[in-house]
Amino acid sequence: MEKNKITLWTLVFGLFLFCIVSVSSDTIQLEKGYLRFEDLKKRFPGLQYKLDPVILVGEIHFKNSSEFKFRVDSTYYIHRNNIESLPKPILYISRDLYLPKELVEAIFIYLIDTEVSYKFTEDALVLNLYQKVIIQPEEISLRHLIIDAGHGGKDPGATAVNGEYEKNYTLKIAKMIKKYIKKKFPNLKIKFTRKKDVYVPLEDRAKIANKKLASSRDTIFISLHCNSTPTPEKSPHGYEVYYLAQTSSIETTRETSIVSSHLIDIRRDPKVRQIQSGMLSSVVQRRSILLAKAIDSKLKESLESKIASRGVKKNNYQVLRGSLMPAVLIELGFISHPQDVKMLEEKSVQIKLAEGIAEGIKNYVMAKN
Ligand SMILES: [Zn+2]
Repeated sequence: MEKNKITLWTLVFGLFLFCIVSVSSDTIQLEKGYLRFEDLKKRFPGLQYKLDPVILVGEIHFKNSSEFKFRVDSTYYIHRNNIESLPKPILYISRDLYLPKELVEAIFIYLIDTEVSYKFTEDALVLNLYQKVIIQPEEISLRHLIIDAGHGGKDPGATAVNGEYEKNYTLKIAKMIKKYIKKKFPNLKIKFTRKKDVYVPLEDRAKIANKKLASSRDTIFISLHCNSTPTPEKSPHGYEVYYLAQTSSIETTRETSIVSSHLIDIRRDPKVRQIQSGMLSSVVQRRSILLAKAIDSKLKESLESKIASRGVKKNNYQVLRGSLMPAVLIELGFISHPQDVKMLEEKSVQIKLAEGIAEGIKNYVMAKN
């Protein structure tokens, strides 16, 4: 019964394609303050115009949208029975329409069905075209994902070359990852250690994650940070994926926490308990390494060097030390490096980060099983 339910459920979700946006940048040159209709149409193929060659009266429309009615050489056009004026007339030269930028803006606002962010410079139109990214939902045999957006509140983390704080990048990207993964793996429950710009002490972050373990062992932890160096002129760039560098004292602490968190049967003989906690601790360590490698390898694929991989590394991070489940810390890039900052600001790159992490988690789960 349960299996049938799951199959049906997958089918139902599979029929609906989930969409989110990605963005790419594009520049169109203006000619004496005018934009050629053909140049605009290349970016928005649904855009059309009709023109009566004799009386030079025409209309512009986008797919099934309402239309703009205009006359060549006139500074007026009509939209939904309203007469709108333009500072310059619409021109028709060598069988092409030339649009004043105010009309282009009106087209973006009233006709085009895609979200467009744009700005006019002296001689060009810079477009951010939002395209739909289709995510096919999949089942994953993992119950919980804890996403830890590093820093927050009174702890801003590092400061980027553009003055932005690390805490804002980590939260913004955490939210993008959540949005993506919720669509990719609808059955995976996602929990944040912070949802807003608030301060959460490091030890509390691991505690929040460990609390989840009480209800499900099938939980992983991902902490997000950004790197920086005090000498920006010599700043390296790239992302890094960390797992905990294990020492015997860390190992002992983790084993003690495993016992105190009741992750093993504490009624057992102390010797058995020690063996069990030691075994569990080494499973957590092995799986953390597996998770780090899987995420790094998939991020490499999805980012296509937009942010370069600096590889899988180990370190004694407090937030990883406290975690009793497979856990990794991702340094998303160097915010002391202008190129990494530019990439982290871009929505399309944030989506690629989310995609790489999601695919990495999937590969980890498959390898673990
Ligand atoms: Zn940090």
